Amino acid sequence: MRKLFIKDIDVRRKRVMVRTDYNVPFDEEGNITDDIRIRATLPTINYLLDEEAKVIIVSHLGRPEGKANPKYSLKPVVRRLQRFLGEKVKVLMAEDCVGPKVKKQIEEMRYGDVILLENLRFHPGEEKNDPSFAAELASMCDVFIQDAFGNCHRKHASMTGIDGYVVSAAGFLLKKEMEYFEKAVNNPMRPVVAILGGAKVSDKIKIVENLSKKMDKVLIGGAMAFTFLKAQGFCVGKSLVDDSMLDVVRNLMDMSRKNGTKLYLPVDFVVAETFNAQAETKIVPYQEIPEKWIALDIGPATTKLFTEALQDAKTIVWNGPMGAFEFDAFSRGTYAMVDAVTSSHATTIVGGGDTDMAFHKSGKRTKYRLFLQEAEHS
Ligand code: AMP
Repeated sequence: MRKLFIKDIDVRRKRVMVRTDYNVPFDEEGNITDDIRIRATLPTINYLLDEEAKVIIVSHLGRPEGKANPKYSLKPVVRRLQRFLGEKVKVLMAEDCVGPKVKKQIEEMRYGDVILLENLRFHPGEEKNDPSFAAELASMCDVFIQDAFGNCHRKHASMTGIDGYVVSAAGFLLKKEMEYFEKAVNNPMRPVVAILGGAKVSDKIKIVENLSKKMDKVLIGGAMAFTFLKAQGFCVGKSLVDDSMLDVVRNLMDMSRKNGTKLYLPVDFVVAETFNAQAETKIVPYQEIPEKWIALDIGPATTKLFTEALQDAKTIVWNGPMGAFEFDAFSRGTYAMVDAVTSSHATTIVGGGDTDMAFHKSGKRTKYRLFLQEAEHS
């Protein structure tokens, strides 16, 4: 079902909740080092302010794992927002994202002001897509606007769970990104290559399915690769596998063969005895992952293979890191792919917060956009 657009619904003097992706990077002193994600939401916020709505902003930040943690507070974002919106608009901060205190703050705030609620992921209900958490969020607004494009592939309470409880529509940012993505994917300059990684196969399998019909090549890295390797009978040691997806993955490989889409899997890995920054590591070919070891990054031969596969690409779509890139020891594959993508002249669409973060950390810029949800629909 196609989402409504913010202009299709009446938001005038309503309580409007906007789901943003303010998962911004910080330096060691806690200063925001890149505020593009905040700036990108201004068209939606300004439109709502013109309509004299009460603008209630929600977002996640980092991975606090369902518990309040000052390290992942959205407080620094309020100051930046205030600067962008100017003195006429009051930007308030709530200590939490649900509960009676927040409700009272929303009740008492003026129309035409903004309130940023504290990190959604301080509550386990967000990532668990708990219906009661979604309903509680919904109860605080009359209209819900989705503008967190980079997070759209996640089935979290504020992403998909809330839809059933309140009228919802896409904001300006989401609409723009979806249009860009649709054009690049449905009518791409060829060859078009998808790079897919990350951990959760079940989250992304539909996307791989859809992309594999449209892509010329699909490169699979990250923990996703082990489900593909195990499905073909290889030992993947203690690497992350989604056993419930083995049949789905087999079908997908068959389908790709029929469609003429080339699927590339890693040919070597960086393996470690434990999932630990200091663990001993070695590089092994894909058929030789030791039984008790964990593969945590693609190896140099894979990087070379994937880089070569990108050589003639005119469009590149990338979601998900090639390894557990949060640890230096397992980050090389992801950053090598960042290099390959940024030195290519292809139109590049990068999706998902982690991949975006890898680009940011590498200091490289590409004309990237965040995507995903639409791939499932198209
Ligand atoms: P996702 O949210 O599905 O895009 O997954 C992103 C996460 O996948 C990152 O936190 C990575 O650390 C993780 N990841 C990627 N490759 C691996 C791997 N080989 N083993 C374990 N985790 C991985």
